[in-house]
Amino acid sequence: MEIQCECGEVKMELAQFPKNSPGRLVCYCDDCQVFLHSLGRSDLLDIAGGTEVVPVYPAEAKIISGTEFLRCTRLSSNGTYRWWSSCCKTPLGNTHPKRPWLGIMHRAYNVKDPKFLEKTFGPVRSRIRGDFARGTPPDGTSPQIGFKDFLVVFPFMLKGILLGKKKNSPFVREDGSPIMEPNVLHSDEVSGIRQELGFK
Ligand SMILES: [Zn+2]
Ligand SMILES: [Zn+2]
Repeated sequence: MEIQCECGEVKMELAQFPKNSPGRLVCYCDDCQVFLHSLGRSDLLDIAGGTEVVPVYPAEAKIISGTEFLRCTRLSSNGTYRWWSSCCKTPLGNTHPKRPWLGIMHRAYNVKDPKFLEKTFGPVRSRIRGDFARGTPPDGTSPQIGFKDFLVVFPFMLKGILLGKKKNSPFVREDGSPIMEPNVLHSDEVSGIRQELGFK
């Protein structure tokens, strides 16, 4: 399975897709919204400000072209690592050094076929952080993170931990550091965007 940025410079290969993925997840949190606004890609948020990701294990992903276009942004010095492509500003995925988690953004799957994820997985399985949604999020969205959302992701995490699937991430060097120095957004930029979006 191959995924790519919008222009096709960055390509990644997913070895066990869709077998090991928990499926489609949507996050309405403030940080995900702020990130896409900072990138100028708020067009990729859903109507209620949601960011859709489909996670895979870092160990099962490989960058096959365009490494030179990869960029990494963090909203703060202890924030999630958010990867994107400088060639066409496609958000690609988020990672966390301690978790077997590579949350790939829906856009990277759907460039060639906008219905790809829908055809592969059916409906979204979990919608979280509805407390930050714009207007009313879809039915079934948890205000924060509900037990049912935990159950969707827990088997994926547990299996990933047991099988060591956070290893060999294409975004991490052998010593555990990210393959490039992340750009940590200035706090003024973050608070400016937050203010625009009406977040405290
Ligand atoms: Zn591109
Ligand atoms: Zn989020």
